[in-house]
Amino acid sequence: MPISFETDSKSRNFINLLLVAAGFLLVSACVFSTGKEPDKNDVKAPSSPAASPSATTKSADSSKKEDKGDFVVRHLTVANSRYEEIDRKIRNEKLLEKAADDLNKALILPKDIYLQSKDCGEPNAQFDPETETITVCYELMEHFYQLYRSDGMKPEDADKKMFQAVRFAFLHEVGHALIFNYDLPVTGNEEDAADRCSSYINIEELGDEGVKNVLAAADAFHIESKQSSSTKRDLADEHLLQEQRFYNSLCMIYGSDAEKYQYFVTDGYLPKERAVRCPMEYQRAVDSWVNLLKPWRKDR
Ligand SMILES: [Zn+2]
Repeated sequence: MPISFETDSKSRNFINLLLVAAGFLLVSACVFSTGKEPDKNDVKAPSSPAASPSATTKSADSSKKEDKGDFVVRHLTVANSRYEEIDRKIRNEKLLEKAADDLNKALILPKDIYLQSKDCGEPNAQFDPETETITVCYELMEHFYQLYRSDGMKPEDADKKMFQAVRFAFLHEVGHALIFNYDLPVTGNEEDAADRCSSYINIEELGDEGVKNVLAAADAFHIESKQSSSTKRDLADEHLLQEQRFYNSLCMIYGSDAEKYQYFVTDGYLPKERAVRCPMEYQRAVDSWVNLLKPWRKDR
């Protein structure tokens, strides 16, 4: 499923982002996936097992799974010449390869999962369970860039934010891929679970850089919600509304350190009524992911 970004893709300024593209997936290659969406970010090493009480009570280390696969990068031919340069940069800088390395260092896989970036004809990111492929579309990058520009952001800032949001999206897709390949239980909305997975990896594994990725995604959700009229909302879509994804993203960050992010509340971004429950909400998400991934994490 798409991250459900609507775009009217005019990309006059797209050339600008090519200049910054070098820094792209470097530290992270992650994709938002939904069973059909891409994102980018990387997974660093597993967090300390002590983080989760349930993780210690549940399975012993003997329950580690057998490693039968890797994240494997595939390069495709670009159909739209507009994306040739960014494609070349991604190859030359080995951005996807670096992301794959980070993921492979951290996770055991039952089979190979492919990572690719390409032009798709639509702004999207996806995980396709049939082909075990996470795809990040260049149109999604362009969409993010234009979204930030349309909100008045300067080209350099829009570039930076775009890469951050793509990393959040990439890790969302990694979330879908892990849910599918590990056969993880999901007792709620899988789109929301994938968002929480991305937030968890970003905040817990990538630190302040990861927080920026979540914030950039939250910004994108917020701008999109401002730009779409209520009649355009698709209430049947499996993704939560952009407003909800915005507040949930802020709640995860705030919940990770209420003192540090107190300004979310005092500046009016996050209602106090929601904020008081965010630390527990965040801890529950972290404990759940730590516990679920435990048999699949490589020991450092
Ligand atoms: Zn998704």
